[in-house]
Amino acid sequence: MRPQDILMPVPAGLCCKPGGFHIDPVRPVERAVITHGHSDHARPGHGAVLATQETLDMMRLRYGDNFARTTQAIRYGEEMTLGDVRIKFHPAGHVLGSAQVAVTCEDTCIVASGDYKDAKDPTCTPFEVVPCDVFITEATFGLPVFRHGDAADEVRKLLASVALFPERAHLVGAYSLGKAQRVIALLREAGHDAPIYLHGAMEKITYYYESRGIALGELRAVKGVKKADLAGTITLAPPSATSDVWTRRFPDPVTAFASGWMRVRARARQRGIELPLVISDHADWDGLTATIAATGAGEVWVTHGQEDALVHWCKSRGLAAQPLDLVGYGDEEEHEPAVADEAEA
Ligand SMILES: [Zn+2]
Ligand SMILES: [Zn+2]
Repeated sequence: MRPQDILMPVPAGLCCKPGGFHIDPVRPVERAVITHGHSDHARPGHGAVLATQETLDMMRLRYGDNFARTTQAIRYGEEMTLGDVRIKFHPAGHVLGSAQVAVTCEDTCIVASGDYKDAKDPTCTPFEVVPCDVFITEATFGLPVFRHGDAADEVRKLLASVALFPERAHLVGAYSLGKAQRVIALLREAGHDAPIYLHGAMEKITYYYESRGIALGELRAVKGVKKADLAGTITLAPPSATSDVWTRRFPDPVTAFASGWMRVRARARQRGIELPLVISDHADWDGLTATIAATGAGEVWVTHGQEDALVHWCKSRGLAAQPLDLVGYGDEEEHEPAVADEAEA
């Protein structure tokens, strides 16, 4: 069977006609298969939703109990038949519960990666290479300039700054689903055992991670804490809050931002970030190319970011490759729920 008869891009997202479902649809559909909880992938309003338990729980936390008509949980490694195809979920290493979806029809296997990273992350199951005929890869950091380095080194930089400026507060901008919890876990691994403070918008998801057995140490809501008591402390907040009047509650704050984009100095400067931390939940250029090679796929579809260089790289290696025309996905930050109502949090 031709791969494009199994999965094809349509305005609602990636459509599997023989299976009767869409993967990460951007418009309401009858049956959705969802890779992970970030809001560019997991949207409310579908009929039936199939995803990991964690992804379903996160959708419920974000959108309320009626986010879909029906839901069904699937575990990593579990196989299920939908219409004329078999699907199987595999860990994507991106955030808690994130999955790659393998779709097999007759003897052709296509793996839709969703967002993924091959770097170590104490808060989620490690990425698994899934051999396949066609690999659909994301390309958020699909340029050779993007090499993330070791996240542990970035966290050491943050702790060095805290030690250097004990009279100042450290305010770390991080996406509220995944990045914030990873930064906290990395701080604990680095030996930082003081309480870590949370912006109100971080609380629900962070406590959910804890309920799934991710140890994050002592956490406190920053709301109501006296300004002077925040000297020498670390607070995690959504990126938008770190450039807000909200920061006035902190004594002379050092503003940090944990993101793969912090490799681009101009971005950090534009946002007024004093301490850029290159910590990404997406694979960097080396991770993307190593993963593509490891899958053994003869054909690669590239989407979700900067496609051209990666398509070129695949072709230069003798692989069939094309950009996949999907819209509505991208930087999680642009899809973060508004925090305006959390201004006092
Ligand atoms: Zn994501
Ligand atoms: Zn995404």
